[in-house]
Amino acid sequence: MLERLPILVIGAGMSGITAAVEAAEAGLSVILLEKLPYIGGNAISMNRYFPKMCPPYCGMEINFRRIKDNPLISLMVSTEVSSVFEQDDSFAVELVSAPEYVNSNCTLCGDCVEVCKAEMKDVFNRSMSSKKAIYHPHDLAFPERYVIDDASCLYDRCNACFETCRYDAINLEAKPKETELIVGSIILATGWEGFDPAEVPDYSFGKHPDILTNLMMERISAPNGSTMGKILCHETQKAPKKIAFIHCVGSRDENHLPYCSGVCCSASLKQALHAVEVLPEVEVSLHYIDLRVSGRNEDFLSKIQDHPRIRLIKGKVSKVNTNTNNKELEFVAEDIESGKKLTYDADMLVLATGLIPNQSAVEGLLPKQRSYLDYYSLPDGVKMAGCAIQPMDISASVKSATGASLLGFRRKEE
Ligand SMILES: Cc1cc2nc3c(=O)[nH]c(=O)nc-3n(C[C@H](O)[C@H](O)[C@H](O)COP(=O)(O)OP(=O)(O)OC[C@H]3O[C@@H](n4cnc5c(N)ncnc54)[C@H](O)[C@@H]3O)c2cc1C
Repeated sequence: MLERLPILVIGAGMSGITAAVEAAEAGLSVILLEKLPYIGGNAISMNRYFPKMCPPYCGMEINFRRIKDNPLISLMVSTEVSSVFEQDDSFAVELVSAPEYVNSNCTLCGDCVEVCKAEMKDVFNRSMSSKKAIYHPHDLAFPERYVIDDASCLYDRCNACFETCRYDAINLEAKPKETELIVGSIILATGWEGFDPAEVPDYSFGKHPDILTNLMMERISAPNGSTMGKILCHETQKAPKKIAFIHCVGSRDENHLPYCSGVCCSASLKQALHAVEVLPEVEVSLHYIDLRVSGRNEDFLSKIQDHPRIRLIKGKVSKVNTNTNNKELEFVAEDIESGKKLTYDADMLVLATGLIPNQSAVEGLLPKQRSYLDYYSLPDGVKMAGCAIQPMDISASVKSATGASLLGFRRKEE
């Protein structure tokens, strides 16, 4: 009988989850590794998914169940690879897991949160809200368990959460854990990070609270987000009357990201449609260089083109001005159709930033570059999946991950 070494999947976003589930359902053992305390990657923080405008639990819950029910998948969260050595026909891998301060006895009762005195920015909400140092990452978080943030916790001075817990679920003495594995193949599904718009100073990101990135827009639109789904201007706490989207922030620009991220146009169209759905008076303008939407997302474009409260304006935005008594935002943009350079105003600006493939787990295996990765030059036995290769939408990520999952059949030991 053939015995195969397990596959190690690094990163548990939609791509890593898919690769793990597909490989395990084909009979292979899989170790699925995630550096965060929960799985789902960037997609779990979205408000709705294009093209169907469905909520994130739509595709995720079924995958969580497939992971839970499959004994061939070992899920390790809060864990990263510390070293990889290629040996013969396999890889020796060392992992390090963050201390497990909260164990599986946790019932999510929340008593610990009530007594916790330390607060920190909620990175899941792109730092637009705060939370306690002991926290439940978000309402779809899997595994379902509270987590303690080491950097923010006052645990050497306060053990209030430990004293309050009735289920023996908290151990403030927990230490990091090291694990050694031998695996037959590795799938890198480390996904992407958003481009930092502060690198383009003309767009004034960080100078006004209502200049948001597209990722922040997802979190203020989401019912489990920083404003419980209410799209509000920061200071007035009123709904914006005008929202403008600036496409290609840093993208297709030799100084920043020389490529098109492919999904940001569809993401802006999706966010614009959501805004006009929930804000009956809002007017939305989208300032674009080229609209790159393909396949099923073309339906979106038709809906936008026909919408009376949405305007598509072809032309690059050159400058955002925040010195307008902090009430409105002004920006200068071309309008290619009229051939004029015009000044526009808005209460809220959304910067459509691109995606940067995340190479943190693959340093040494790949040249560091801000461009598409050459996954053909990877060592034998290593494959990439999803946005770690190049920006792509969820459906393309799933396809790429399904293909990568076949890697596990490459090597065999008798
Ligand atoms: C504003 C915006 C809106 C979008 N909306 C949509 C949409 O509506 N529909 C759609 O189809 N697509 C959408 N996308 C694209 C979508 O987010 C991606 O297709 C999807 O996230 C790709 O999944 P992934 O698993 O490849 O990467 P990711 O989601 O980035 O997941 C990667 C995972 O790997 C983990 N990881 C990274 N490094 C390590 C490491 N060293 N060790 C362990 N784990 C690690 C990360 O923590 C993360 O959990 C949107 C993109 C943007 C920017």
